[in-house]
Amino acid sequence: MSFKNLNLINPIIRAVTEAGYSKPTEIQDSAIPYILAGKDVVGCAQTGTGKTAAFVMPILQLLKKYTPEHKEIRTLILTPTRELAIQIEENFGLYSKYLPLSQLSIFGGVSAGSQLAALRKRVDILVATPERLLELVDQRYIDLSKIEIFVLDEADKMLDMGFVNDVRKILKLLPQKRQTLFFSATMPVSIRKFAETIMKNPVEVTVHPVLPATQTLKQSATSTSQYSGNL
Ligand code: AMP
Repeated sequence: MSFKNLNLINPIIRAVTEAGYSKPTEIQDSAIPYILAGKDVVGCAQTGTGKTAAFVMPILQLLKKYTPEHKEIRTLILTPTRELAIQIEENFGLYSKYLPLSQLSIFGGVSAGSQLAALRKRVDILVATPERLLELVDQRYIDLSKIEIFVLDEADKMLDMGFVNDVRKILKLLPQKRQTLFFSATMPVSIRKFAETIMKNPVEVTVHPVLPATQTLKQSATSTSQYSGNL
């Protein structure tokens, strides 16, 4: 499979090629067609499989396709740590190089000043850690009522770190009608149950790494199955 066969548009293919990637990874092959089709997706994939680009590229394409004149934040990526937030924002920056879309990451542990200044400009895609996001929502700097696509990244880590109540609060602020993407390195019953409560008829995409995370890009086996709905 090539990026072109995945029906990605030229500005994204150009950016990904310039980033040095010639073909999609297994998770990208499996997840991108469903995301582009507007489906809710549960992705079971570890860091190192190319899973960030697996949601970043199709999200950019969807936002580009339906870009109206707007000022609101249209996509929210929730991730547990500052490092991941920065990494995801960088991925959006990399692949949106030839698209008129803008992204911002917000996270705790630093003063909110520069984040607030950046929020005054147009932000299409917001990458956030839960606590800082809720803080800025409470202070009315952020409105989540126009979110079209919501991504919960590293869901297992998020719940392990005790963010479940924060995530539930955030979910209540999102429109019911939205596309939801849910990524987790592991999929125990508790995580599956949680996914079921926040998604509509999701497709499940799984990448089983057969080697340690550092080598998964070279060798991995994939199986894709239609989510059965009985998590
Ligand atoms: P992630 O699983 O998102 O943490 O990505 C792991 C690494 O894979 C990152 O360094 C990415 O830049 C890289 N990567 C993403 N897409 C591809 C691709 N199609 N081919 C090779 N490497 C990729």
